[in-house]
Amino acid sequence: MPLPLGHTAIGLAINDIYPKGSFTDNPWKPFVFVVALSNLPDIDVITGLMLYGNGDVFHRGPTHSLLFGLIMALIASRVGNWWSKISGVSFLWCFLVIFSHVLADAILTHVPVSLWWPLELNCSGGYSGWVDVINFVVFGAIRDVGIIVTVATVIVFNRIIRHKPLPFAFSRLLKGR
Ligand SMILES: [Zn+2]
Repeated sequence: MPLPLGHTAIGLAINDIYPKGSFTDNPWKPFVFVVALSNLPDIDVITGLMLYGNGDVFHRGPTHSLLFGLIMALIASRVGNWWSKISGVSFLWCFLVIFSHVLADAILTHVPVSLWWPLELNCSGGYSGWVDVINFVVFGAIRDVGIIVTVATVIVFNRIIRHKPLPFAFSRLLKGR
């Protein structure tokens, strides 16, 4: 099951493959955007924890849908343009990063998402308290190793094919370009 690390890695790959990837000027703001947007659908876990002490109440409900991806991409692209004019943070870029989360959850796990909400609703049910969620995020990250290795491979091949410099996004990010 993709956790924040896995979703972030997939978001970074999308940014790398996207023709006008956003790490072109100041890399830190776009990086924050990738982390935030690629994990945005799981805000339903925080909402459930805060309201009911159960992270599973709303999990994989409306925030794991096509409609949520479209609406949040619209809002995020506006915020991106307003927040120091981050280049490359377009509606499509935001949508792809957000929706990658929903697709990854749908494809890589057995629990369905609510892709066509409000026409369907598939909340995961069950119970996850604060301790369960924190344990899962901190100690379950090892499960995302497969995703991270796959994503790193995709980025390297993308850069070889498109004659872009290696190693991939992180070295660029750390160097400020
Ligand atoms: Zn999710």
